[in-house]
Amino acid sequence: MIDLSAPATKVKINYSPKNASGYKSASSAVGKSRKTQVRGLHNFFIWLAIKLRIFFLVIMTVRSLKKAIEYYRQIIHLRENVWNGNMKKIYRVGGKYFYNQYTPAWPSKQYDEMIVRETRRRIFHETSHSCSFVFFAITRKCPLRCEHCFEWDNLNKKETFTAKELDLIVDHYKKQGMFQMHLSGGEPMLRVREMVELLNKHGNNVDFWVLTSGFNCTRENLSLLKQAGLKGIVVSIDHYIAELHDAFRRKAGSYDAALKAVQYAQELQLATAISICVTKSFLAAGHLWPYAEFARELGVEFVQLLEPRNIGNYKDQDVLLDEMHIQMLEDFFKSVNHSKETSNYPTFSYHGFHQRRVGCFAGSRSIYIDSAGNVHSCPFCHTAAYNIKSFIDNNKLAEVPQKLNECPRFGKVV
Ligand code: SF4
Repeated sequence: MIDLSAPATKVKINYSPKNASGYKSASSAVGKSRKTQVRGLHNFFIWLAIKLRIFFLVIMTVRSLKKAIEYYRQIIHLRENVWNGNMKKIYRVGGKYFYNQYTPAWPSKQYDEMIVRETRRRIFHETSHSCSFVFFAITRKCPLRCEHCFEWDNLNKKETFTAKELDLIVDHYKKQGMFQMHLSGGEPMLRVREMVELLNKHGNNVDFWVLTSGFNCTRENLSLLKQAGLKGIVVSIDHYIAELHDAFRRKAGSYDAALKAVQYAQELQLATAISICVTKSFLAAGHLWPYAEFARELGVEFVQLLEPRNIGNYKDQDVLLDEMHIQMLEDFFKSVNHSKETSNYPTFSYHGFHQRRVGCFAGSRSIYIDSAGNVHSCPFCHTAAYNIKSFIDNNKLAEVPQKLNECPRFGKVV
């Protein structure tokens, strides 16, 4: 395990990347990063257009002005709870607008479907569509050995799903109302050919993203996915210092591969996010702000901050963040997303913030299919409700239950 720890009582948040030892300019590593953030009047009018569209969809669903105002406010309020206020950052990539990696691109029928679904949930207390968003671990194969891996116990065994079964599963959840799917693993880029087939078949109705370590993200492979309709990519980068990222991922060269993946994705007009498992030692050593500067230099649209969980390779380890570290993350999350000084930084998502206030979206809007076929409400709490593979083997996909075990830690957002 990497030890970057400083005594917790001496924590000092470092606001300058230049002060972080080993910091290397991201732009020198990947070349000129793109600028996709929509600013000024363009930003104002796009948000106006999006909000008018939301209101239109709500009023068409409830058919009452008074109720439409009420439900519109509820939807906006939910968003403000997630982002600690009115989050204005938005990005234009490939002719579409994105404001986070968990919301379909705008404008699109998938985006409209999300709003209608959210409205119906409120009016009719509809909870049947629990799987609008599906994380799908399509492979058990992975060449990395990451310190925090939550799929650890499933990795590098016989593949669970054939190409045909991947298609059956996507088709099943599409019929259940899924409009966005993130393909993960293992390393999903080991199944590029199958992903291209899935996207060619289902990409018109589902926004697909790929979650990768950067392995096998050649320009050619990402180009094939882009042509098939891929919307975005989430690349795991756990440190801005190459050696420490590679040590965390236990594979030399994985930092360079991750940066290349970001570069190619940007050149191909894919929305790009990076994801980091924020450990106690990372926080204690003051690496968060330098990492934010690194992300800004990379020119990615989104950064996902994940808390370590004691599952998978972290099972039985003392990795859960304590109150002080959570407070640091929350302060950072509020500041980096809303302050003037960081208005040109990427959008940082931190699930822990809304989970501790309004619950988790897992189980009510999203599900996680692990690489062994177990279906959980989320990747981080292993509470499988059923195994999708056994339904396929018994030719009973139509009988898959809708009910999922909800997050045992935070409960679900209603
Ligand atoms: S976290 Fe992802 S990349 Fe790392 S070992 Fe697990 S599956 Fe592989």
